[in-house]
Amino acid sequence: MRLLIVEDEKRLALSLAKGLTAEGYAVDVVHDGLEGLHMAGEGSYDLVILDIMLPGMNGYRVCGALRSAGHDVPILMLTAKDGEYDEAEGLDTGADDYLTKPFSYVVLVARVKALLRRRGSSGGGSPVHVLGDLKVDTAARRVHLGADEIALTTKEFAVLEQLVVRAGEVVSKAEILKHVWDFAYDGDPNIVEVYISTLRRKLGAALIRTVRGAGYRLEAR
Ligand code: CA
Repeated sequence: MRLLIVEDEKRLALSLAKGLTAEGYAVDVVHDGLEGLHMAGEGSYDLVILDIMLPGMNGYRVCGALRSAGHDVPILMLTAKDGEYDEAEGLDTGADDYLTKPFSYVVLVARVKALLRRRGSSGGGSPVHVLGDLKVDTAARRVHLGADEIALTTKEFAVLEQLVVRAGEVVSKAEILKHVWDFAYDGDPNIVEVYISTLRRKLGAALIRTVRGAGYRLEAR
């Protein structure tokens, strides 16, 4: 799951990013409305957290522009408590939910999860993927192999999720990196191999095939 935070208060943006990364999301951060619109418009985010008062372009206009361009990514708006936010106006521009600052981090995470769940259940397809003995529930983040529940770390789960939602197709290492780590990740791309080998150890060696020069494919058994 890939999230975009558009927030010009840098300390707040970075602490949200840090917390959401620890929850297992890949998080990108921008501090300007126009840049936010550009990145959200590329369409590869599962959710956008959008401040209202922003340099470049305000959050209402970013949200309105995304909706009129046909983007249905869930948008959670953030606002200050001083009355800058007009709830009706925010919902008019197509925001899915809003939070008033200062908010508790726990509440933010709960809202993010609820929006992602709502999207999962309405956006075509169940969050539960069954492939032979393997059952992956992307909403509850639980994995079963036969009757046994398999414990995965958040990153292991995120890598598996990328393969499961595209079972039978080849998923490249770069795509996994982009969705599971974030765009600022500048470490070794071979980290993906490390996670794939852990998944093979936990779930069975035959489950994930290496397609030489192309990536990995989860066998749809
Ligand atoms: Ca602001």
